[in-house]
Amino acid sequence: MANGPSYGFDTLQIHAGSSPDPATGSRQTPIYQSTAFVFQNSEHAARLFNLQELGYIYSRLTNPTIATLQERIAVLEGGVGAVCCSSGHAAQIMALFPLMKPGKNIIASTRLYGGTVTQFSNTIKRFGWSAKFVDFDDFESIKNAVDKDTQAIFCEAIANPGGYITDLDEVAAIADKAGIPLIVDNTSATPYLCRPIDHGATIIVHSTTKYLTGNGTVTGGCVVDSGKFDWTKSGKFSSLSEPEPAYHGLKFAETFGEMAFTFHGIAIGLRDLGMTMNPQAAHYSLLGIETLSLRMEKHVANALKVTNWLESHPAVDKVTYAGLESSPYFERVEKICPKGAGGLFTISLKGGYDSCVKFVDNLDIFSHVANLGDSRSLVIHPASTTHRQLTTEQQRAAGTGPEIVRISIGIEDSDDLISDLKQALDKTVK
Ligand SMILES: *Cc1c(COP(=O)(O)O)cnc(C)c1O
Repeated sequence: MANGPSYGFDTLQIHAGSSPDPATGSRQTPIYQSTAFVFQNSEHAARLFNLQELGYIYSRLTNPTIATLQERIAVLEGGVGAVCCSSGHAAQIMALFPLMKPGKNIIASTRLYGGTVTQFSNTIKRFGWSAKFVDFDDFESIKNAVDKDTQAIFCEAIANPGGYITDLDEVAAIADKAGIPLIVDNTSATPYLCRPIDHGATIIVHSTTKYLTGNGTVTGGCVVDSGKFDWTKSGKFSSLSEPEPAYHGLKFAETFGEMAFTFHGIAIGLRDLGMTMNPQAAHYSLLGIETLSLRMEKHVANALKVTNWLESHPAVDKVTYAGLESSPYFERVEKICPKGAGGLFTISLKGGYDSCVKFVDNLDIFSHVANLGDSRSLVIHPASTTHRQLTTEQQRAAGTGPEIVRISIGIEDSDDLISDLKQALDKTVK
């Protein structure tokens, strides 16, 4: 079907990128569980390998089921192209790979998913890359952190785990002025609540593991390109603007124009890094995305009800949900994600670490897991789990001190969620 911009989100989340299977008429996108695809003849094979013709070669690079998912996410985000990969963390490496070289750095928000802080503070150093973490509410310090080796700015739209909202327009303006791309992790917001490209972002990354799939079945990631960045202007992004030795001297920007970043991600990123999504995972994610808007509406409605109730419970010190008037980010919701502040927030318990552990262990409907964005309500105590690799200082900067519990509100009945929270909280004060 045509993915005309005239179609609404609810239509596109079901139809974008998919059409009945040409061979069988299958209405649902088939799972093309095949490693390789037959060339029509040697001439056809040569054209595919030269990127002169689009088609399928080998599933490390491209696969029809995954291509459908890529197009659907690209359309929902308002981008020109997308590359799916094996996880959200793979997507982050895939997004940085075309931009970075040894000695280069990125500016990253202190308020990021814990695993991202770890990836950026330690693992990327093995590639000779580094990250400078700054407070993204302090625009001056973002500006001041940019130096001649800075290749990108990285933040989350709705930042995990506290539900902080980043003023994407302000941060995009800083990136623009510095002549570098803004990469936004849009996992917690999803394109239904926020479209970072509309706020000036260059590249979007997703953990499709979370809300996009929405049912806790598969890990996956996606990199979406806005197609708006001029890779040739500054000379900083030579892998895109200059002859690329890894692809027999091809100049990606000159050859592919606005699709340069996406083609680079497939032809070099997936080919050589091999962080490929599998067709089964793409299938589950495609099924999930069909109901994205319905689920996000319910996540937001439930989160609002539950956080309002939590604020009044005597065991609770603080609730950080940007949908609450008490949040310093309340005003930003209207600007950045007017349909709602998502389903993710933290609470701090007056009883500290011990109360948190007791609370988590006594919940019944909520599952204690290291995941978020599921249709089920989930809870975790970051200081003892996802964020335990971080120093207490880093934990506090990320909003995950020892007294903090992260809650990912599902789409169950809100009254049931509240009574479950009540019985577990009551036990912490006994
Ligand atoms: C989960 C998550 C990631 C990492 O994604 P994986 O699929 O687990 O690799 C990155 N960013 C955010 C915001 C996440 O929630």
